[in-house]
Amino acid sequence: MKVALELKDFAKYPFLKESQQFIREYADTIGDFIGTNPGKIALKRATGRVSDALGLQEEKAPDRVPTERFEVKLEVAGYALARVLVSCQDDRSIIDRLCRYEAARAFRYLLDEDDDKKEMVASSLGIHVSGRSVPLFQYVEMVSGMREDRWRLVNREVDSGRVQVNRDEMNELIREQLRVILARQLPLKVPGQVCADLQPYLELITTAYQERLIEDMGEVEEGSFPPCIQAILTALTGGTNITHAGRFALTAFLHNIGMDKNQIVELYCRAPDFDVSKTLYQVEHISGRGGTEYTAPGCASMRTFGLCVNRDEICGKVNHPLNYYRRKKKRSSFTQRSG
Ligand code: SF4
Repeated sequence: MKVALELKDFAKYPFLKESQQFIREYADTIGDFIGTNPGKIALKRATGRVSDALGLQEEKAPDRVPTERFEVKLEVAGYALARVLVSCQDDRSIIDRLCRYEAARAFRYLLDEDDDKKEMVASSLGIHVSGRSVPLFQYVEMVSGMREDRWRLVNREVDSGRVQVNRDEMNELIREQLRVILARQLPLKVPGQVCADLQPYLELITTAYQERLIEDMGEVEEGSFPPCIQAILTALTGGTNITHAGRFALTAFLHNIGMDKNQIVELYCRAPDFDVSKTLYQVEHISGRGGTEYTAPGCASMRTFGLCVNRDEICGKVNHPLNYYRRKKKRSSFTQRSG
């Protein structure tokens, strides 16, 4: 069945070719567009989009979806220009964060779509899903970057050359595929003059990113770890068996706050069943040796895996363990300064 796209779908899924077609009329070239008034507004949106991506706001509430024609165009143009900005920056870690952000953003909207719309979005990404199954060859390609055991073929039901997945898994597969496709497309080849014109916006992003890195990479404060991460550490020290999801969350968190692989392995030494080579392999994998650098799961995912425990009052204000850490660390350095 052919599904008709509504105007608001262009804003929700700006990567679709129909969405890109929708803004074609604006100007012949990016250089022309960014000099226009709509171009300047879209550039501000693009900068906001990249900043959000760098701020790891992966699981905030879905953005208000514009429904008015001009607003939708700005939204789609903002997406396109965000890709131009990160291409000018040409920093793989920024590009990866934007791809992850865009994939997570589309994912949030997909969760509320009916199956026909979802299949339509998926097929525009080259994923031929049907009901609750994916062709075997495609499944294998799609899960190649997914680390959890549940994705391994031996743990799946395969029927007539198709792998069965449930509704939530289908959403996750689409999100991962979207991330991979977006990552493959970037960086774009942007004319040098356009990057030069975008310099003030690039500087804004670079400054914000560096501040974030300094915040993350500053001295590690175990006392500011969120309760979920503290709980995994306590379980580790006590010799309790930690699930794969728990190990992943802990390692990615420690990597994201700037601990190097030796420091992380040192922490794992607290476990009675510590295995140095296995731990080193996992740490290197999560910190990007295989080409993908992972971000620690947000609070929603932690809840799904039963890892969100001992919540305190800061938890009510954050959507990501990393945001919890930043907030608490800031608070404790303020207390130290004023004390
Ligand atoms: S709310 Fe978030 S930060 Fe707090 S314990 Fe749960 S997962 Fe961790």
